Amino acid sequence: MRPLEELVRPNICSLTPYSCARDEYQGAEATVFLDANESPYNTPLNRYPDPLQRKVKDALSHIYGLRSECFFLGNGSDEAIDLVYRIFCRPGRDNVVAPDPTYGMYGVAADINDVEYRRVPLAADFSLQAERLLEVCNAQTKAIFLCSPNNPTGNAFTAEAIEQVVARFQGIVVVDEAYADFSSQPSWVKRIVDYPNLIVLRTFSKAWASAGVRLGLAFARPDIIALFNKVKYPYNVSQLTQDYALEMLSRRYEVLEWVKRLLDERTKVVAALRLLPFYEKDYPSDANFVLVKLQGARRIYDYLIGQGIVVRDRSRVTLCDDCLRITIGLPTENSRLLAALRQYNGK
Ligand code: PMP
Repeated sequence: MRPLEELVRPNICSLTPYSCARDEYQGAEATVFLDANESPYNTPLNRYPDPLQRKVKDALSHIYGLRSECFFLGNGSDEAIDLVYRIFCRPGRDNVVAPDPTYGMYGVAADINDVEYRRVPLAADFSLQAERLLEVCNAQTKAIFLCSPNNPTGNAFTAEAIEQVVARFQGIVVVDEAYADFSSQPSWVKRIVDYPNLIVLRTFSKAWASAGVRLGLAFARPDIIALFNKVKYPYNVSQLTQDYALEMLSRRYEVLEWVKRLLDERTKVVAALRLLPFYEKDYPSDANFVLVKLQGARRIYDYLIGQGIVVRDRSRVTLCDDCLRITIGLPTENSRLLAALRQYNGK
């Protein structure tokens, strides 16, 4: 890996971060807080939250067996994606590389930050073309985004292909594991120990059933996490979110049960889709959704909307002609979808 100081934008290297009241005084002894211009009236959200979310990170530290300096918490993992650009990429000069198709926010965040976004097609079977990703990198390539399991294709990339990129690329590699709880492939979270250029993203929005709370996680070596902390908004994770996260972490065995049920449902949904007359193909999924190719996908999408059922039309996405992305829901929801599809007569 190139030295971190070479990868980070010079203005971020030299940045003096905002120091908030809760950064300057962290002791537990004080009982009168007149330092942050808060209201004294206990709503009970009159106080600013912990800017570094220490209690949540302590809990994560026990769960993952990593020091709390290895975690960043943000307003969804989308915040961490945006921060990668703001920390590493000089607008108008640097670029990032990602497979295509993949999660759309990497490209949108690149556009917002005026950073060139280089797309490298996945192979026809949606596997990662590690060699080709590395070939399009140049001295201005600061980061490579790998989403595994990938959205919208659903497959996880092999550990060998990901390792080839992480081990050989000299800049930052972001492995977005938003759907990893559903995958049988090993997670990359603990591999931050082996690779100083690795950032792994997780989210509460999928398996943790908490998309509404907006909480995303980044795992990386402490020197990278320190940069995230330097650039993030001071109080980026609300008190409500921090309290909720602690509660959810204590319910993690329930999450495992939900995952198991969704995987069983996924098997049933795929088996039923295969019996439809207009079914063409489904793609192996390591996620809580399945990408399926159907004859006349766009019309089927419109028909389903008419039935009050919303799936995601991916038919105009690279390599996804005639594909719909179907999230696995409750058994009753999946049954409604399948019943509607069985009634579909092409009109
Ligand atoms: N990464 C991937 C691969 C996603 O599919 C999504 C959401 N669809 C996100 C990140 C964003 O997650 P969050 O809700 O944590 O911002």
